[in-house]
Amino acid sequence: MRYYVLDRGDSLSVELAEQFHKLAGEHGFELDAKSPEIVVSIGGDGTMLHAFHTFIDRIPSIAFVGVHTGHLGFYADWKADELPELVSLMGGKGGPGTMKPRIVNYPLLEVEITKKSGTLSYICLNEFTLKGTDGTLVAQVDINDQMFEMFRGDGICISTPSGSTAYNKSLGGAMLHPTIEALQISEIASINNRVFRTMGSALVLPKHHHCDIYSRKEQNLTITLDHISLHLNDLLSVKCRVARQKISFVRYRPFPFWERVRNAFLD
Ligand code: NAP
Repeated sequence: MRYYVLDRGDSLSVELAEQFHKLAGEHGFELDAKSPEIVVSIGGDGTMLHAFHTFIDRIPSIAFVGVHTGHLGFYADWKADELPELVSLMGGKGGPGTMKPRIVNYPLLEVEITKKSGTLSYICLNEFTLKGTDGTLVAQVDINDQMFEMFRGDGICISTPSGSTAYNKSLGGAMLHPTIEALQISEIASINNRVFRTMGSALVLPKHHHCDIYSRKEQNLTITLDHISLHLNDLLSVKCRVARQKISFVRYRPFPFWERVRNAFLD
């Protein structure tokens, strides 16, 4: 088994990463920074975003596992004191009654950014956002090549189903089960009055639909792709659709989504 570990950098996560390497060595796993089969993220959901983007070119051949060193995460289901159990299960040495490892796949978001100077493509695990840097964002939103609305406000967020519990939730978007193949458009402080009007509620698009956003004035913009920020002043348009590829997580035990939602936001 070829593996790689990425930690958040705080003392507990670093210590756990060292413990993981020791246990992995005892089980005969091979540390491989270039072509791991399993990537273990130790920290929080933010650490998983870093792990995802570190291996963005190898997503189809990697399965991710998350260990959380803070509160229970949406991408991280193992606790610090469970590392020995996790490594045993990864090595196929679970005790009686243990579940067969299962791969779950979550849809991703494909973002194509067209600037005057060229086109760039990205994949997001959580979301893409477009915001005015020093003023109101003015942008035309098209759905399936039909004009939908002229947006004025702070910005627009387009999230994956697994990202729906992150920034999207703070914007009043719906929480989607992470296996639903869809993208969600939510507004960041839209201007609505007698002159300007937007839909005002989040929209969920199925995987065979797409959304284009056209910059409609000379403007300095900030784009975020998960934790990554870009600043640009020559944006023409952004095309968003559900990506063809998916992220894989390996589950050695059940990790029910709605229980995670309850634990994270209600308990
Ligand atoms: P951060 O500001 O350090 O962390 C943002 C928070 O979002 C952390 O508590 C993180 O959990 C949590 N989070 C990340 N992915 C999540 C998910 N899929 N479901 C539920 N919670 C999630 O930034 P970061 O660590 O670099 O992460 C970037 C992410 O921050 C962005 O993708 C965006 O979703 C989120 N964000 C949220 C807001 C907002 O809610 N107003 C604003 C900006 C960005 P952990 O503590 O477990 O890492």
